[in-house]
Amino acid sequence: MISSYAGISPKSDLVLLEKLGEKLAGKSFLHVNSTREGGGVAEILQRMIPLLESLDIKPRWEVIEGDDKFYDMTKKIHNTLQGDMDTVITDDMWEHYYEVNRTNAAKLDLGADAVLIHDPQPAALVQSRNSGHWLWRCHIDISIPNERVFSKLLPFVKEYDSSIFSVAKFSRSTGIDEYIVPPSIDPLSEKNMELGEKEIIAVAEKFGIPMDRPILLQVSRFDRFKDPIGVIEAYRKVKKYNDCVLVLAGSPASDDPEGEAMLDEVRSYASDDPDVFILLLPPFSDLEINALQSMATVVLQKSLKEGFGLTVSEAMWKAKPVIGGAVGGIPLQIVHGITGFLVHSVDGAAFRIRQYLNNPEMAGRMGKAGREYVRNHFLLTRQARDYLALWYAAECKDEGIVFEMDPPSPGEVGQVD
Ligand code: UDP
Repeated sequence: MISSYAGISPKSDLVLLEKLGEKLAGKSFLHVNSTREGGGVAEILQRMIPLLESLDIKPRWEVIEGDDKFYDMTKKIHNTLQGDMDTVITDDMWEHYYEVNRTNAAKLDLGADAVLIHDPQPAALVQSRNSGHWLWRCHIDISIPNERVFSKLLPFVKEYDSSIFSVAKFSRSTGIDEYIVPPSIDPLSEKNMELGEKEIIAVAEKFGIPMDRPILLQVSRFDRFKDPIGVIEAYRKVKKYNDCVLVLAGSPASDDPEGEAMLDEVRSYASDDPDVFILLLPPFSDLEINALQSMATVVLQKSLKEGFGLTVSEAMWKAKPVIGGAVGGIPLQIVHGITGFLVHSVDGAAFRIRQYLNNPEMAGRMGKAGREYVRNHFLLTRQARDYLALWYAAECKDEGIVFEMDPPSPGEVGQVD
């Protein structure tokens, strides 16, 4: 499978990945998160597991189970860690959180050579650790967290061997080893492979989206931090001067109980504008998302808080001109003025949309630069390389890392041109 990435991913990533795979072959690598569908974590795991398998590593993916009370509470943790200072998490809620984690720990097989726990929902599983290296992976933007809530999680985090953050400024002083590993997209997935014109047109027809005018698109869960209302406001400002349509596409995530209320708010705010398309897609609508991103003229991710924002790299990989909120992991992907534009307001977003619409040559150039930027930094092979490298570093911690690199034989892996 690694060879399928030849000519797509940087050759150096592939060589390193193969070498690390040889060192770790036969060992088990358990991932635990809180949903199998919806959102970026599940998106990456769906692709990461087969890639690890192809390297003869034995990956497993477990999902914790909780009731509505648990997911209401963990969504509050999510929001407060992303800076919501008002919401209070009561002792009773925390008790429930510990209880659900204990129940899951009793049910799940947590034995593995490396255990990677994703995000706060299952963080307390670490209390039941027995063997292997335990890593806590934080995908959310905790640059300015609600300290009351973070201090409740910190004792669990300290029980891990290492923590992993997506962006350097999210890292906290936890007293354990810390690594920075940005997320990634899979260029070979149904969501990111190149589509033919017929497939794209078929999806446009399915949703009734006209292709005779510029299409503005935002793909994301209906979450207030994704600012779908701000996107509609920006579209309205643009629409006074440039005829265009707006597509907001999202699907529910089973661990996000606030999605429905936000969707209602978005629908009522969009009112009955026939040029605003609000699409609630079923899970695993990868082909549809791909087609929407491929048909878009401009792709937005106008987030107010963002862990990383896979949708930005997905659009950049399709060589689309992008506009992103200057928050969280988005500036990692958008080099302002080169691979896209960063914005801080509705007015800023409207201004940049018009700039793209009025300068198709510039939009095309920036789209192409974005694709190359993603190729070099945000493909799945780089992320797998990073995970294996830090796992291998943990294995060799006491003895110093011994890593022999043989030069690849000609034709071993393809060359990216
Ligand atoms: N996504 C999807 N269908 C939707 C909305 C989003 O498949 O209706 C995908 C999107 O393409 C991306 C992921 O879900 O791969 C969202 O990841 P991101 O990092 O952008 O945001 P998160 O939801 O993790 O905050």
